Amino acid sequence: KAYLGAIEAANPAINAYVTVTPEKAIEMAEVADTRIASGAAGPLEGIPLGIKDLFATKGVHTQACSHILDGFKPEYESTVTANLWRDGAVMLGKLNMDEFAMGSSNETSYYGAVKNPWRQDGSDMDLVPGGSSGGSAAAVAANLCAAATATDTGGSIRQPAGLTGTVGIKPTYGRCSRWGTVAFASSLDQAGPIARDVRDAAIMLRSMASVDEKDTTSVDIAVPDYEAAIGQSVKGLKIGIPKEYRVEGMAEEVDQAWTNGIAWLRDAGAEIVDIELPHTRYALPAYYIVAPAEASSNLARYDGVRYGLRVPGKDIVDMYEKTRAAGFGREVQRRIMIGTYVLSAGYYDAYYLRAQKVRTLIKRDFENAFNAGVDAILTPATPSSAFGIGDQEMASDPVKMYMQDIFTVTVNMAGLPGISVPAGLDHKGLPLGLQLIGKPFDEETLFRAGHVIE
Ligand code: GLN
Repeated sequence: KAYLGAIEAANPAINAYVTVTPEKAIEMAEVADTRIASGAAGPLEGIPLGIKDLFATKGVHTQACSHILDGFKPEYESTVTANLWRDGAVMLGKLNMDEFAMGSSNETSYYGAVKNPWRQDGSDMDLVPGGSSGGSAAAVAANLCAAATATDTGGSIRQPAGLTGTVGIKPTYGRCSRWGTVAFASSLDQAGPIARDVRDAAIMLRSMASVDEKDTTSVDIAVPDYEAAIGQSVKGLKIGIPKEYRVEGMAEEVDQAWTNGIAWLRDAGAEIVDIELPHTRYALPAYYIVAPAEASSNLARYDGVRYGLRVPGKDIVDMYEKTRAAGFGREVQRRIMIGTYVLSAGYYDAYYLRAQKVRTLIKRDFENAFNAGVDAILTPATPSSAFGIGDQEMASDPVKMYMQDIFTVTVNMAGLPGISVPAGLDHKGLPLGLQLIGKPFDEETLFRAGHVIE
């Protein structure tokens, strides 16, 4: 009830929730009460969560914050949210996001921008919370839920966590089932939590993760008790520092936060080593070929027949065209056009195939570092702190916005786990995050080292 009250009071200004489910929340909380009373409490019993609008929730609006999914109420529950309800969690509602998870500022949502609860010292300018999981990050930062689900295709958990002073982890590809999560780029998409601290993120991820016969890319590796990793010493851990992440145009304070993070880990007993990830600079261009290619294919299903919006036309093709023209926003249309172009017969080899080869090289860079004994890699999470809503530079040049993902997309391309943890404030009083990248299925080391930094 306290959370529902907070949502009612603050959501009109922050716009983090697009659907609030008070009756469901109370009903689930009552069930939690009886389970607690009878000694049958699950690990998340009674914990109120916000759910990114990308997760299918049975009978509850699920629109990926797109006009084209207007009115869509799934008949089924995503595996990730089903796991959370099994463990006793309570649903408060659905969270705002960039349309179909395409964006880095939560400004492409059909339901409007989300405001970052943080403001620059002495300024009343509204800032973005990052994206695409901007609603999740803002809701957690503003105490409008205890924790939230999110998804990360190229940074959408870690970048908003970085810009809101929260913790977000994208687990290894395959850790969480993708079943029932609206697909953006299937070979990159992973669910994960955004939470207030590393411990909460660890508890959340344990419940979210599972092997699932409905997602053949989910992996059958036991899910450890992540919480047990917290507080364990980092003595002897080898932390790699890749010089390629010191990019041009990066805010000086981001560099300073990185230096601080290195010092904190070293003081806690970790060994710091310089490493090379030579193909890093190709990651962003390759990502912006692979992700739109897969998106253009995945989004072909929204045709005005199967889901949501339908704009009538003089024949079926006209209806498809009118529906898709009205239903998809500008950024989504841009991605579909890029994706269709790079997959077309004449350009497939030059773009898509080449990007896939680059992807292999990026993966090998990480393998080489881990084979040389590195346990985790420390980098900044974002190249800057939160920027203004409607920032002209970003709005006029989509590539500037894509630069927000410069530190995060490599991790999706390689399928690795990555966590973003708060690492202090910049001179404007805004949060900065650091990212730790781990070996496949070694999220534990990220929780362990992340807890030292937070
Ligand atoms: N900002 C990136 C994009 O727009 C990443 C999005 C995501 O991780 N869902 O593609």
